Amino acid sequence: AKEAGRGRWRSYSHELGDANRRRLSIEQGLRSAIDNGEISLHWQPKLDLQSGKITGAEALMRWHHPELGAISPMEFIPIAEQCGLIDSLDIWALTEACRAGTKELAGLTIAVNVSASQLQFGEYLHHLKQVLRSSGIAPEKLELELTESVLIEDADKAMTVLNDIRSTGVRLALDDFGTGYSSLSYLRRFPFDTLKIDRSFVTELLTKQDARAIVRMIADLAKELGKRTVCEGVESDEQLQLVRAAGCHEIQGYLISPPCPLAAFPHELDAQLRA
Ligand code: C2E
Ligand code: CA
Ligand code: CA
Ligand code: CA
Repeated sequence: AKEAGRGRWRSYSHELGDANRRRLSIEQGLRSAIDNGEISLHWQPKLDLQSGKITGAEALMRWHHPELGAISPMEFIPIAEQCGLIDSLDIWALTEACRAGTKELAGLTIAVNVSASQLQFGEYLHHLKQVLRSSGIAPEKLELELTESVLIEDADKAMTVLNDIRSTGVRLALDDFGTGYSSLSYLRRFPFDTLKIDRSFVTELLTKQDARAIVRMIADLAKELGKRTVCEGVESDEQLQLVRAAGCHEIQGYLISPPCPLAAFPHELDAQLRA
């Protein structure tokens, strides 16, 4: 038994070694990923439920590592945040997204994700104004998606930056809404235009009565506060019907389309979905 235990420990420590090595190569690779042209944006359409048209697109970062292959943003974004590389990644994404927003995706509302550290840093507003100017995108066509974590570290600072951003005409969305702790108080205090209802609620819509109640409650509350709601992660027609019944404004999800490269972006809804 002792031997087996030791063996288990050895393989565990090997795995730990592998994980550390992977983390290190990700961190190393990230430093030159933009310059090497390894980072790109994929785009996921947003369907407006009232008009039945695709009216927006969210930019989602993709990284193809020369040796490790495709690495999910779920893996590399947190690492980029921890080692101070997220700021340049997010500015790159913003720049590229605004460019596309005046060309291939002209007419659509463009959504870009922004990590918390960006706003704590304070340089963000300066970069944003620069990108608005150089791209020529109409500010109201741009929406920044932030999670609650942005507001927690230094709420006063965040409030100032967010109000400054809002006064450029750029819109603000609160991402992953419903998963945090103090969402309701943030809602009242911070200048968000849109709530993105987290995918976890949508996933459970068909099986859990409480998920349905929560989505309906968020949609009602948002309406009361004059905000729009977007439902993430809609994968089935049944979910779409429930989300529509709850009164959400827009949906995103595999039912409409997964995130895809610009060239494959679906400007029109599939025929079977239009029916
Ligand atoms: P997020 O902003 O909440 O993005 C939604 C995620 O859900 C995306 O994962 C998207 O591909 C996925 N998704 C969309 N529809 C469905 C669906 O119907 N079913 C399922 N199962 N998943 C769906 P992705 O692209 O892997 O991005 C993960 C996270 O990485 C994002 O979550 C966001 O927090 C972060 N991220 C991505 N790009 C950027 C970026 O440019 N900057 C920053 N700071 N974060 C980013
Ligand atoms: Ca997002
Ligand atoms: Ca989200
Ligand atoms: Ca998320």
